[in-house]
Amino acid sequence: MKNKIILSLGIIILLLSTYLVNSCLAITQSDIDSLRQQQEQAQREKEEIAQQKETEKNELESINEQLNKVNNEIMELEGKIASLNISISEKETQIEEKEKELQEKQELLKTRLVAMYKNGNLSYLDVLLGSSNYMDMLASIDALERIADADNKLIVKIKEEKAELEQIKKQLEDEKIEVDAAKAQKKAKNVELTTLQEQKESKIASLTEEEKQKEKKISEFQAAIRQGEAEIQAEIERNRNKNNGHSNVTGSIDNSQGSLGWPLPKQYARYSYITSYFGPRKQPTAGASTNHGAIDIGVSYQPLYAAESGLVVTAGVVSGYGNFIMIWHNQRGQLYTAYGHLSQILVSAGQTVNRGQQIGVTGNTGITTGPHLHFEVRVGGSSSGCRTDPLNYVVIS
Ligand SMILES: [Zn+2]
Repeated sequence: MKNKIILSLGIIILLLSTYLVNSCLAITQSDIDSLRQQQEQAQREKEEIAQQKETEKNELESINEQLNKVNNEIMELEGKIASLNISISEKETQIEEKEKELQEKQELLKTRLVAMYKNGNLSYLDVLLGSSNYMDMLASIDALERIADADNKLIVKIKEEKAELEQIKKQLEDEKIEVDAAKAQKKAKNVELTTLQEQKESKIASLTEEEKQKEKKISEFQAAIRQGEAEIQAEIERNRNKNNGHSNVTGSIDNSQGSLGWPLPKQYARYSYITSYFGPRKQPTAGASTNHGAIDIGVSYQPLYAAESGLVVTAGVVSGYGNFIMIWHNQRGQLYTAYGHLSQILVSAGQTVNRGQQIGVTGNTGITTGPHLHFEVRVGGSSSGCRTDPLNYVVIS
């Protein structure tokens, strides 16, 4: 909030210094035209930003779509990898089973071969096979050989089956390597897109901030234009009154001391209540002016009186000043008084006030370090460049 106040105060100071400061001239139509051009320029810039933002948003949308697609593809690939892993481990189990079967068969065959070749005498075989005669025995040997042969064939078959399983497993593993590589590629794409997405998002955020700043600037320009137009209108009124002879305006102001009333109750008309004088000073708080165009009177919540009769030209919140009133003492030429940090405003712009009339209550609004009245006198125009030392216009002791 404070930063915003400082920012808008900065913009106002910038505006005033661009158009009005130092020369202390009343605002002219060409100043307003210039302000309007600036406002239009800011408007165009804001539209450009909005357009740029739209483009970025569209690009972000397409990135998001791509990212979605890639993430879905990654998910699919992960599904594939998971099912490949299951298939591979199934094959491993089957291979292990085959291996076990193979070993059992080989063991059995070994036992039979041992029986055949190591204990190859007839009596043993006779006993073994329970054959009663030689022919039976021969037949039994033949049977044994056939069994061994069948065993051998079975072993070969199991080996083939195992080799086939290993082949399938190898294919699955190769496929998994491919899918893994595809997934890694998609992951890289995901990282790339996520980076792009973050870049776009931060770009959009900064464009939104820029847009807001432009809007702020535009409304500052609008406020300055409104105030300028009101002053020009007031000037026209003044000239009309002069031409009609209805006014005692002299075109110059009375510079003698005491020409303005003290804007506070009498007991505060003392130097001892002045907490800050007109002129250069150390910045009392961030955002406060270093070249003080006013006197600060250290009172809190006291009735505020118009220092002179006149026309209220500003009554409302002004950046830095808080609640603020400016009166044009139109009967006395280009003489203005201004009052800042008020707690209450009891008048409105366009209203006529009399000298000594209560117009508000002092306070602590705007950029302050504590309650006080910020009292300005402007001579020659209403711009801040026209501020002069109020102590030349009031009598105090
Ligand atoms: Zn002040």
